[in-house]
Amino acid sequence: MREKKDVLPIRILGDSVLREKAVPIEDLTDEIIKLARKMEITMKMANGIGLAAPQVGRSMRLFVVDTEYLEISKRPMVFVNPVIVERVGESEFEEGCLSIPGLYANVIRPEKIVVRTLLLRRKKLVERELEADGLFARVIQHELDHLDGVLFIDHLPADERARLLREWTLQRHSVG
Ligand SMILES: [Zn+2]
Repeated sequence: MREKKDVLPIRILGDSVLREKAVPIEDLTDEIIKLARKMEITMKMANGIGLAAPQVGRSMRLFVVDTEYLEISKRPMVFVNPVIVERVGESEFEEGCLSIPGLYANVIRPEKIVVRTLLLRRKKLVERELEADGLFARVIQHELDHLDGVLFIDHLPADERARLLREWTLQRHSVG
């Protein structure tokens, strides 16, 4: 059941937590299980297909992906301490980020990846090695960047990034 109290505030560009390197999760606690659940709800309510813990102010190596929307699994997947172990090819795709609302840009990333991770399943962590391509690979890479304090705009050429950020800042200040 989704309730309003389970929707967490999303941190916006400028918040220093988005630039921190998140720490690995050593022990699975009830608090982390609850956080993951709330992050799933927050992601869905915000119409995102991924959400990383730093985006809700928690500097830990955990993110959720709406693999239900991607038709990869019946439930969203919760990644814990993920590592990309293989990258293949290259693709360009338009990305956005819940922490930079309204800013979109094409980003070049590897097209296929292999990721080694723990997945949170029924309150337990299971070890998995997953192959991903297309949008799934894209989202995993975007979310994993968040765990290293990297945002998708960091992948853009400096002049394009500066122009987009100028426009974004102006837009945010003109609202209300
Ligand atoms: Zn993002």
